[in-house]
Amino acid sequence: STHQLVALVTGANKGIGRAIAEHLATLGMAVLIGARDRQRGEEAAAALRHAGGDAYAVALDVTDPAGVGEAARWIEERFGHLDVLVNNAGITGSGQVSPEDAVDQIPSTVHLDMVRAVFETNVFGVITVTNAMLPLLRRSPAPRIVNLSSGVASLTIAGDPFGPLAGLPASAAYAPSKTALNALTVQYANELRKDGVLVNIADPGYVDTDINNHRGFLTPAQGAAVVVRLATLGPDGPTGGFFNQDGPLPW
Ligand code: NDP
Repeated sequence: STHQLVALVTGANKGIGRAIAEHLATLGMAVLIGARDRQRGEEAAAALRHAGGDAYAVALDVTDPAGVGEAARWIEERFGHLDVLVNNAGITGSGQVSPEDAVDQIPSTVHLDMVRAVFETNVFGVITVTNAMLPLLRRSPAPRIVNLSSGVASLTIAGDPFGPLAGLPASAAYAPSKTALNALTVQYANELRKDGVLVNIADPGYVDTDINNHRGFLTPAQGAAVVVRLATLGPDGPTGGFFNQDGPLPW
């Protein structure tokens, strides 16, 4: 058939989201560059079109339900459906720092406003976008949803006093927000399993982007690879799973 797959990536104007959009475009998908800043979204979409991709900017702040609703209506009018949703937009709450520098997230001294802001974007924003886009995803023959998590979200890993995170300051904001997103992913997967919507969550690894002031050691394209794999699963693919580039991760 001539059905062109349509993918929406939130926070796709830079970093891992932009690399995900670039990769999906090379697969022939129409890629919608979600960006809270219209100008930055237009620039990223134009660059992707210049490279031969079928890309469109969509103004989308995940913390603005009315704006997300407008974005969904625009996608419906322009394309009529959606095949892939990547909930990539995220913030640390501490600005552009490495996890080892995020001392303002230490549980006993954290400001609750910061915890709220991080959950607003990383958790509630995903519910807002997913629920606005689900009617469009249900019109796809093979809908896929991928959320962006982190190794720090794993309670098995973070709860191991001798594990790889043992040296990091404890976090009451970013890490728990991603743990909550892991939990939400399982619940969406359970609800949507009967409808053939595959919902998974990815840890991209430690990636060189603005979010960690470029301390990550993987390229955005390397971080994007596991996300693209989950966005393009065949009908027998997993749902409700947590994966990095090497395979399943413990919750
Ligand atoms: P960047 O900071 O480079 O990119 C984050 C993107 O999210 C930007 O496009 C940003 O937009 C967007 N964004 C933030 N808040 C909102 C919002 N309210 N509405 C819409 N877009 C928003 O970070 P990364 O590319 O590194 O991060 C992408 C995802 O990967 C995040 O969810 C992050 O938690 C996760 N991740 C990253 C890791 C890493 O090592 N880099 C490790 C583990 C997980 P703007 O340009 O306007 O700020």
